[in-house]
Amino acid sequence: MPEGDTIFRAARTLHRALAGKAVVRFESVLPHLTRVHDDTPLTGRTVDEVRAAGKHLLMQFSGDLLLRTHMRMNGSWHIYRPGEPWQRPRRAMRIVVGTADFEAVGFDIPVAEMIRGTDLRRHEELRKLGPDLLGDEFDAGEAVRRIRARGASEVADVLLNQRVLAGIGNVYKSEVLFACGVSPFAPVASLSDVQVECLVATGRRFLRANVTDHLAPMTTYTGFRRTTRRSDPKERLWVYGRAGDPCRTCGAPISIRPHGRDARLTYWCPTCQPSTS
Ligand SMILES: [Zn+2]
Repeated sequence: MPEGDTIFRAARTLHRALAGKAVVRFESVLPHLTRVHDDTPLTGRTVDEVRAAGKHLLMQFSGDLLLRTHMRMNGSWHIYRPGEPWQRPRRAMRIVVGTADFEAVGFDIPVAEMIRGTDLRRHEELRKLGPDLLGDEFDAGEAVRRIRARGASEVADVLLNQRVLAGIGNVYKSEVLFACGVSPFAPVASLSDVQVECLVATGRRFLRANVTDHLAPMTTYTGFRRTTRRSDPKERLWVYGRAGDPCRTCGAPISIRPHGRDARLTYWCPTCQPSTS
C-alpha cells in the first residue's frame, strides 16, 4: 500500500500539472464515474485543486464536484504529455483526466467516486481519518490520544490504522518503531508517554522529510524513500526489507514476521526493540 508520502507527492505533482486548467478529456472504465460524467460532464470544468487527505487523493473540479481515489495496494496516478506512451498497459487504465498540456492516468485504482461538494463534509471515510501526519494543522496531542485509546492492541497494528493516524504504511511502520526503540508487538498500554510521543513525532518527521526532498518535475513516484539520512541507496532504510542483515546500530540480525490482520511483513531488531513485557 502506498504510504502517505507517496500520495502526497502524487497529489502535488498532479496539482502542479492540472490546477487552473480546463478538462478537455475524461475517460473511465468505471461505470459509476462515467454515469456522473454523462449527466454533468467533467469536460469544460476547471481542475481547482488536487490534494491528499491521508491516503486519499482528492481532485476538486469547478462546479463543486470532487473525485476521490484511494490506491490501496496497487493503484497509481501517472502524468503524461498527450500522445506520450504510457508505462502501464492500457487494460490497467481506470481513469483519464486530460487538459491541453497533460493527461493524468489512474492505473488499477480500486476505489474511486465522485462526490458533490455538499456531501464531502458528511463523507464517512474522510470524516473518520485520524490526524494527517502531512497536514498543515497536524494535531500531535490528538494523535497521541487516539493511539492511547487502543491500549490493548499491538502498536504495529495501531500505527497502520488510518483512523488513529493518517499516513503511515507498512514501510514507515517498521522504520518508526525502530527509530523509537519500540517492539512492534508491544501493547500500546505498555508504552511510556515518551515512547508514544516519539512514534508520533518520528512518523511526522520521516514522512515530511520524504516529501521535501528535491524531486525531478512531473514524476509521480520515486523509490527514494529514506529514513537514515544516508545517501547510498542501499542504506536508506533502517530495518524495512533487511531481514537477516545486521542492524545498523547494534549488528544483530534484523528479524521479520508476517503480522496483523493482513499478515503485513514487520521488520525489527530484537536487541534495539526489546519486548516490554
Ligand atoms: Zn539493533
